[in-house]
This record gives sequence, C-alpha cells and structure tokens, in this order.
Amino acid sequence: MSVKSRTVIGPVSVVEALAAMARHPLRKAEPETVLVSAAEGRILAVDARAAENAPPFTRSCVDGFAVIAQEVASATPQSPVRLRIAGDVRMGAAAPAMLERGTCLRVPTGGALPPQADGVVMVEDAQEIGEIVEIRDGESVRDHITLEGADVRAGDLLCERGTTLSPAAIGMLAAAGVAEISVYRAPRVAILVTGDELVPAGAPLGPGQIRDSNRAALSAALAAMGFAPGSYPRVPDERSAFDAAFAIALAENDAVVISGGSSVGERDYTPEVIDAAGAPGVIVHGIRAKPGRPAVLAAVGDKPVIGLPGNPVSALVVLEAIGKPILLRMFDITHKPLTFRAELSEAIDVSPNLEHRIPVRLTSSLTGLRAQPLIGTSAHAHILGFADGLVVVPEGVGRLAAGTHVDAVPFSATRR
Ligand code: AMP
Ligand code: MG
Repeated sequence: MSVKSRTVIGPVSVVEALAAMARHPLRKAEPETVLVSAAEGRILAVDARAAENAPPFTRSCVDGFAVIAQEVASATPQSPVRLRIAGDVRMGAAAPAMLERGTCLRVPTGGALPPQADGVVMVEDAQEIGEIVEIRDGESVRDHITLEGADVRAGDLLCERGTTLSPAAIGMLAAAGVAEISVYRAPRVAILVTGDELVPAGAPLGPGQIRDSNRAALSAALAAMGFAPGSYPRVPDERSAFDAAFAIALAENDAVVISGGSSVGERDYTPEVIDAAGAPGVIVHGIRAKPGRPAVLAAVGDKPVIGLPGNPVSALVVLEAIGKPILLRMFDITHKPLTFRAELSEAIDVSPNLEHRIPVRLTSSLTGLRAQPLIGTSAHAHILGFADGLVVVPEGVGRLAAGTHVDAVPFSATRR
C-alpha cells in the first residue's frame, strides 16, 4: 500500500477546503462548435460577439408613411400637410423608389426606409384621400424609425465566456447573425454509490434495506449544473470491489463523485480507495460544516474526486455548496450564485461550532420574500424536496432570530 507523503487537511472550514482544492490544477472542459439554435443550457467557451448589425438596415417601427421629417414638422389636425403617395415598401425588400420632395411611401412595421427618409408618420395620424395623404401630426416622426445597428453593432460583446445560454441569449445571438458558437463539452462525471443496504426503486426491499435515492438525485443535480453524469453499478462495502469500481469510473470520466463511505467507520473505504488510485489523492477530509463533516475532497492527476456523505440531504447539499464550485472550475467558471434577501419566518437554532446550511422554502409576502427553515435530520429526503434555497449560518453564530434578514442561495437541485 502506498504511503502518503503529503498531509491531508481537515476538519477545515468550507473556505479553507475550497482554497486547498484551488491550489491543485484541474482538467478543463473541451470546446466544441454547435448551432446556436441547439445551444440552450450550454456554457460558452468564448466571448460571443455580434456577427452583423441588428437591425441590418434602418426601418420603420410603426405602420405608416415614410417621410422627410422636416417637410411634415408643422402638420397639425387644423393645418395638415399633404403629400403624394409614391408607392409601397414591401417587407423583405428594399424601398421601391427614392423619396422625392412632396411625396411619401407607405411602409409597414419593420419595412426598409429609403435613404432620404428620416421619419415615419403613423397611420393613426394620417388620412388617405386617393393618391394623397393628409398628415395631421408631424411631431415625433423621427421616433418611429429604428436606425441600422441600434439594437447591436457588429463586433459588440453579447455574452461573456462562461455564460450559460438562456433562450433569450440564444435569440439575441440569432438576431445578431451568429449561426454557430463554441461551447464546452459537458465533462463526464461518474457517480459511484456505495452501501450494502441500498436497493434501487422498483426492486423489492429486503430486511434492513433502504432505497438508493442519491443516484437519481446526484445524477439530476450534476446534469442541471452542466455535466454529463455517468451511472455505475452499486459498489458494495468491500475494499477490493470498491478499488475495481473506482479504477473504471476514473478511467472513463473527467471527475468522480462518490456517495457514502466517507466517514471513519470500519467499512468507510472512500479515502483509502482514492489514495490508492494515485497522487495527489485526498486533499481535504472533514469540513467544519453541517452537512459536510465527513466530506472528502480529492484529485487523482487532474481529475477531481468528491466524496459525499451518504445521507440524502447531506449528499445533495454538499454537492451544491462544495462540489459544485470545484467541478465548475473545469469550465473556468468562478461560482458566484445570485442570492435572494429574505426574512426568516422562524428562528434557526444550531450549534455555533460548525457552519450550517439550512434548507428554506421561499414564499412572497407583502413585505418581501420570506424564508421558512425546513428543520429535520439529514436522513429526511423530503426536506430538500420542498426547499428552494439554502441559508448559511456562519461558524460562531448559532442562532438567528425570527425576522432576521438572510441571503438564501437558490438550490439548483430543486427547480420548480
Ligand atoms: P454513509 O455515508 O455511507 O455512512 O451513509 C450514511 C447514511 O446515509 C446511512 O444511513 C446510509 O444508509 C444512507 N445512505 C447512504 N447512501 C445512500 C443512498 N445512495 N441513498 C439513500 N441513503 C443513503
Ligand atoms: Mg455507507
């Protein structure tokens, strides 16, 4: 058995744990080029810039008459200005004629303006009489046009590298003529579930057996974070089987997430198995956080390995709070979640010698958002099923009174 020359740290704070991991270089996700139309939810590998001006030509933003603004400036209902209608602008075509003095062109919303036109009179402010139109309001005609490039200009920075593409961002890129874009391939993250007591949903439960809920929950959470989760057969609490399973998972993936077996029980082999697989091995074992105390943070070569506590609430919360910022480094992203300011509806009372993460349910009230703490044990999967976010109670604090304003971090594993 190999002897470790480097010291493992722990129990340490979450910040210290992440800092220790940050000193170790991790592999980066590979870029690939995809159609913008198929890029929803993908993470940009480059800064995305506009390929062309939008709109690509100066156009009308109302249905009306393209005019020379100065010719109609004096028009009022009492003293209208009369212009001859010289033709019609068709959608998707250039203006049919030059705009000569004393004339106008009928133009639909989005139609191209002839170069001489610098205003559009709305149909509501005009009265057609045969080939003539009476303009009754000439005031704000310049506001009824959208200049070429008024939306975005070719070369403008639209989305920064590391942005997760939303439907709206995809629309913006498409409007700016971007057809293909470089995004990161989803790194493959293996999920190894350990425990002799675990049985998948659908199979009969024997005496002393429980449902394996972590496989499904961790897989869904990793997918929501932008990874390609890979599922492997359940690992028995037996050292050589664990070694063999870990070797396969490591070889076939960019990272490994292990559920269970990370505490200090006789059959908790996670740290030993990781260390035996290669350097640097375990970097942090034990975090002064609840949940998180038995967590293992490690790497083999440039592949991160996250050992999660087996309790269902602990497993998901630790993946979210500690695993996610580590794994997102593969996309070169510094994880800075937006938080929601909310008022606690009930007191939180926890031991001050650990940093706590309390699941909360958010509801809106007349005075703003309210956060209801969901108290229970980490073995109760239902607690997270009802949660919208997590509230951090820092080490040394312990109690937060009802009415305290807290920052809730939205919980990506509970999308509703
Ligand atoms: P461990 O971290 O392996 O010591 O497990 C801690 C607790 O979590 C034990 O009660 C396990 O039965 C439970 N547990 C471990 N893995 C899972 C899982 N995949 N699904 C549900 N519960 C689990
Ligand atoms: Mg176990």
